[in-house]
Order: sequence, then C-alpha cells, then structure tokens
Amino acid sequence: MDPSAAVRGAQRSGGLLAVHAHPDDETLATGALLATWAAARRPVTVVTCTRGERGEVIGTELAHLEGDGRALAEHRSGELAAALLALGVDDQVFLDTVPGPATDGTTGPLTGDRFEDSGMAWVGTGRAGASAELPPHAFVAAHAGDAARRLARVLRSRRPDVVVTYEPDGGYGHPDHVRAHEVTVRAVELAAAEGEGGQPPHVVPVVLWAAHDESALRSAYAALAGAAVADVLTGDEARLGRPDPEGPLPSVAVPGAWIDLTVDVAPVRTRQAGGAAGPRHPGDGRARGRRRCGSRRVLRAEQRGPRAAAADGGVPVRSGVRAAGPGVVARVVGPGRHVARRRAPGSLTA
Ligand SMILES: [Zn+2]
Repeated sequence: MDPSAAVRGAQRSGGLLAVHAHPDDETLATGALLATWAAARRPVTVVTCTRGERGEVIGTELAHLEGDGRALAEHRSGELAAALLALGVDDQVFLDTVPGPATDGTTGPLTGDRFEDSGMAWVGTGRAGASAELPPHAFVAAHAGDAARRLARVLRSRRPDVVVTYEPDGGYGHPDHVRAHEVTVRAVELAAAEGEGGQPPHVVPVVLWAAHDESALRSAYAALAGAAVADVLTGDEARLGRPDPEGPLPSVAVPGAWIDLTVDVAPVRTRQAGGAAGPRHPGDGRARGRRRCGSRRVLRAEQRGPRAAAADGGVPVRSGVRAAGPGVVARVVGPGRHVARRRAPGSLTA
C-alpha cells in the first residue's frame, strides 16, 4: 500500500499513542503531552512494555518492595492506573497482554511470555547501561520482532495520528527504553506495511521522540542546585543527589533547534503533578513513595522546565537525533489549542 495514499485517505482519529518501558515513564517523560491531549478530548493510549519489576525504590516506606519483582510490579501497576487517572488517560495496554506470534511464526494466541523489566546499572553520570545479570523474561531478551508485531496490532487497532516514545538512546541509556524505541520504530513500519486480522494497514503520520531542550534542562539543574531548593527538601528527598548544572547531560537533552514540538506544562501542571505523585495515604496527602528506573532528577527537571518534544521517524540528520518528518511543524500551546501543519502529503490538523 502506498503510505502517502493511506495518509491522504485515512480518517484521522486525532489520537495519540505513547510507548513506554515502565510504569511512571509515561508521566515523567511525556506526562504533559498526554494530559494536554486528553484535555483536548482526543483519544490517548499508553502502551507499557513491562511492569517495572526491577525499579529502584526511593525512600524507606516501600523499601521492602525492592528486589521482590512480583510485589513491585503489582504496586507499580496500581500506581500506573492512578497516574493515568490523574492525567486523564483511559486506555492503557501492557504489551505482553497483546496476542503475539504462535510458535510456528504465524500470529496466534497469547504465548504466555511476560515482558519483564531488564534492570540496569549506572555506567556514568546520569548514564545507564545493561545490568550485569539479565533476569528471566527480560524485555531486552524477548524477540524484538515479536514485541513489534504485538505493538503493530495495537497501532492498527487504535490508529493514532501521533506516536510518542523515547529518543534512540532511551533518554539516558536504560536498556528497556532503548528497546522500546527500537520496537516502536519497527512496529510503525509493520503497521504501515501490512494489515492483519481484518485490520487494514495504518500509517502513523507523526512519530515524536521525547526530548529536553538542553539549555532549559541546564537552567532547571541550576535551579535545583540553589539554596532555595535545598531548604525545602527533607527526609529521603534531602539525601538524593542533585545534578551538576555544568555536568554532562543525558541523551534526552538536545539543542533547542532540533525540537519540533514543545509542550507547555503550565495548563496541565496539576494533572502532571498528580500523575507523578502516585497513590497517597488516606488523610496525610503525602506520596507513599516513588520508584525510578533512572533518576529522580528527571522528574524534578520536568516539573520546573518541561519540554516534551520531538522528532519524527524520518530522515536522520545528526548523530542520534532526527529532524521532523516531511514537513511537520508542530507546537502545542495548551489544551485544545495544538496546531500542526504538514506540507505534504495530505494535511494534519487538530
Ligand atoms: Zn523507565
């Protein structure tokens, strides 16, 4: 099928679909975007690849969950549901619940395989790499083509206008994030190339990669390093390291000129903060705890200088980061007021 014909002829859903590796990534990496889209009453779907079995638990209150993959997965699944409620998102799919290919290579019923958090190790400042020991059912050890075919099924079913995931290096190198990016790229190709089970092919017009404007991120780091922040941090928060404003930046940070779409968090700040807080104790209003697959720094930076942004799975232009797809120029200015133009083919309007 000619992709450009599909773009021209398709009924636009106005939907957005986000692909993330672990619970809480949807809020930390793209919470403002999801909340903005939901507030505009457009369909939003979150696909979560694992349940975050090997996340790091911050603080003492939930410390007993660390290392107990099943218990942590259950807890984080509950937090994910609460976060999506806060963000206004009502459609979420765990990727391993989507029927995958049967053993004979055809697409059949569920294989029963579970995609689990692959774990990670810090290999540098703000830089994650593979864990020394890969756990059973690790997402990165699963067949990437299998995962992509499952995701392609979701894409054909939801038929989103926009797909968002991590940039190619997963924001800061987490192996599951990198794999989620790779699986998303492949799934977008598969969904466009072929239909399945009565679902016609679906061409995703715009693919976004979550990114920060590096100057905004450094400004946020500088604010975090200030005494005003130190004065209000208590308990576990006070023991967290704060990033060096002059230090190396994670791969999520890119030059501002490379960013094609910027999300203003201000109109949806309450929703995004609600998604980040997770379930609360009745009565005391304090977050029970927060897990991280990476660094709390990312959350803090996003709360102060959020820049979810973007590039299409289009033409590689510079190392690791791609420019917008053909003619895509987009800017989200607030709930219900996102504007997008696409020079050719067809048009993307919202
Ligand atoms: Zn993650």
